[in-house]
Amino acid sequence: MSEEKSRADALKEELFLDFKNAALRMESDEVAEADRYCGGYKDFITRCKTERETVSYVADLAEKAGFRPLKKGSACRAGDKILLNNRGKALILAVIGEKDLSEGVRIAAAHIDAPRLDMKPSPLYEDSDLALLKTHYYGGIKKYQWTAVPLSIHGVIVKKNGETVTVSIGEKEGEPRFVVNDLLPHLDGEMRKRNASEAIKGEELNILVGSRPFRSDKGSELVKLQILKLLNEKFGIIEEDFLSAELEAVPAYPAVDIGFDASLIGAYGHDDRVCAYPCVTALLACGKPLYTTLAVLSDKEETGSDGNTGLASSFLADFIGDFAADSGFSTREVLRHSSCLSADVNAAFDPTFPSVHDKLNAAYINKGIVLTKYTGARGKSGTSDASAEFTGHIRKVFNDAGVIWQTGELGKVDEGGGGTVAKYIANLGVDTIDVGVPVLSMHSPFEVVSKLDVYMTHKAVLAFYSA
Ligand code: MN
Ligand code: MN
Repeated sequence: MSEEKSRADALKEELFLDFKNAALRMESDEVAEADRYCGGYKDFITRCKTERETVSYVADLAEKAGFRPLKKGSACRAGDKILLNNRGKALILAVIGEKDLSEGVRIAAAHIDAPRLDMKPSPLYEDSDLALLKTHYYGGIKKYQWTAVPLSIHGVIVKKNGETVTVSIGEKEGEPRFVVNDLLPHLDGEMRKRNASEAIKGEELNILVGSRPFRSDKGSELVKLQILKLLNEKFGIIEEDFLSAELEAVPAYPAVDIGFDASLIGAYGHDDRVCAYPCVTALLACGKPLYTTLAVLSDKEETGSDGNTGLASSFLADFIGDFAADSGFSTREVLRHSSCLSADVNAAFDPTFPSVHDKLNAAYINKGIVLTKYTGARGKSGTSDASAEFTGHIRKVFNDAGVIWQTGELGKVDEGGGGTVAKYIANLGVDTIDVGVPVLSMHSPFEVVSKLDVYMTHKAVLAFYSA
């Protein structure tokens, strides 16, 4: 009987799909390497709270590593490092490979925008001796999660004279923070009757920014006046300048370890900077690749990828076209032989809310990078759905490189769904598949990921670039 059982176990091992916890599959020195790698990630995610800050952080890193804007008319040579900064909000890094561009390029694409509260064009007002800013939320948020959380304000203001001021208030020690107030439970009887999605309404996401009036015997709106006076002294702005500004309120705290074992990282904005960072570190680590490799950091994914910094626009194809033309190839010739990892987070199975997942096809914390064959909603609407052939190829690349990976679907078939930039790149003729880090509390002000999964994403992208 016992022999019978062990034969069954052996056969199971051979035939069954079994995704074990990465901590049981990795050597202890690789676990230590993963923890070290995540120290760098925590610094990155703490400093990069917006798409603009991410572009400037990565562009700095890339320039130090020798990346330069493309010089028109100069044919690229293997090992050349090219950088495209798209309006300070999206970025492409490329390393020219040894093979002809006609054999295609390797693209890893992630997005660097994240859900947040944007200031309205005319945001500042005073009510009952308090100064507040009106916001318009960006991306899919559960609005009630954004109250009673310390916020910082980041962005740019273009002044009347055309000068641009960069703003970041509320991150450094000693700087004030901001907050959206909530109603106390003692008085929220009416509010409790609202649907959860309406618990806090869009027009209630007003940020408290001050309470002391400008000293004067008479006059109205003296608190607002005092705030504008302070802003004028600090940044030289007037109220009209808010119109030509992009100011984003985001959670003001740094990334921290989570758990007694410190195995997880809690932070704002993992989606999708937790995939952007590995795309960049893998590109910087890939040396002289065989194929030309690209790391694409895009903006506007959370609002549908539209606009000239989003991947529904032509900026990626145009970039490839520019250096393809200099080497005598057409953009299409390059694109149709190219492949792409669309790196974006997936929902991690949460044992507190098991009903929204198909357990067999859910992604789990600590089981490695998630290979998502398709995203979309309902009958696979809005997805590029990677082919069996390309999925098989990527699976082999990951297996050959010792990458720990798992499969994942974004929730049960009828539960909802979502999509990312994959389809826009696939629509260019590029073989594309979704991969990414599983996340708990996705789109909340404090998302959670596992260190081993983040590290495996770096390892996976590096394997893809090197294959
Ligand atoms: Mn995302
Ligand atoms: Mn998202």
